[in-house]
Amino acid sequence: QERLPSPERLAEEPDDATIRPAHFDEFVGQAQIKETLAIAIAAAKTRGETLDHILFSGPPGLGKTTLAQIVAREMGVSIRSTTGPVLDKPGDLAAQLTALTQGDVLFIDEIHRLNPVVEEILYPAMEDACIDVMIGEGPGARSVQLPLEEFTLVGATTKVGLLGSPLRDRFGFIFRLTLYDVADLVKIVLRSAAIMQTEITIDGAQEIAARSRGTPRIANRLLRRVRDFALVRKDGTIDEQTADLALSMLGIDSLGLDNVDRRILSVVAHDFGGGPVGVKTIAIAIGEEVRTIEEVYEPYLIQIGFIKRTPQGREITDAGRRHIGVSRGAGNDP
Ligand code: ADP
Repeated sequence: QERLPSPERLAEEPDDATIRPAHFDEFVGQAQIKETLAIAIAAAKTRGETLDHILFSGPPGLGKTTLAQIVAREMGVSIRSTTGPVLDKPGDLAAQLTALTQGDVLFIDEIHRLNPVVEEILYPAMEDACIDVMIGEGPGARSVQLPLEEFTLVGATTKVGLLGSPLRDRFGFIFRLTLYDVADLVKIVLRSAAIMQTEITIDGAQEIAARSRGTPRIANRLLRRVRDFALVRKDGTIDEQTADLALSMLGIDSLGLDNVDRRILSVVAHDFGGGPVGVKTIAIAIGEEVRTIEEVYEPYLIQIGFIKRTPQGREITDAGRRHIGVSRGAGNDP
């Protein structure tokens, strides 16, 4: 089932490559990260060195992959991309590593989901640019060291807490991306609309930005849907009214919540007396996976102050109650 405000990558988003920023100056927001990276890149180039390993953490759709690509482009090197769960066996990672040429970027998305035996290959690779490979089997087996070209590992993770310190400590830079404010999302929507050759007013961009859950990927996705609506139902121009109509029709409310978010709020408020209630219980009640709740829905509900995470579980706040129109004390006590 399609969920519009999901920050996760969907298969169809065909114009992604054209609207993806290619340089730092097109990449909106995250000013401190951009500045630190720009200085590190300039310094590495001046010294003729390989850039230190970089870890990006933060919720999906905030620009981790985009930054990895920009880093490679600015360094003037090639990038190979893979993801943690795909690297099943040590040999899978060894194949990626040995294919790199001097200074290249290896991008590993979802690096927290690497198989531990695969992860171990990374340590000497990151530290000393070499890998240990086993030759032969049984009693005659021996390990030989294979040198690699120097490279930059760029890792991305939605859960930096799941990364063990042996891996985390080998990154020279660790950046945490944060949700974008509406002003930055307005800039992103205006830029994408220009690339899509779509007329849009500032108010129209504002309306889409405010409903994008702090996430550029969602902003671009909502823009595409509003753009279709404007073309079919209106004259093609996106203004505030068109954006509001289209998004409301799609079940996305003024804060960007959809019916799953509202169900989470409602379950906590009504079925569990406002909480605290464990995330597993919420997951069962609404029929979603725990991981999805934690990584997809919850970050934004916490960010806007609708849900509070306590050691005993999740609680709904007064603001959250107001949004779904219930008063404190409503619902059945468990
Ligand atoms: P992640 O790897 O964190 O899931 P991506 O790098 O794939 O996120 O970004 C998702 C989409 O959002 C990209 O296609 C890009 O077009 C857009 N995007 C992300 N960050 C920015 C930004 N800072 N400025 C403009 N567009 C952005």
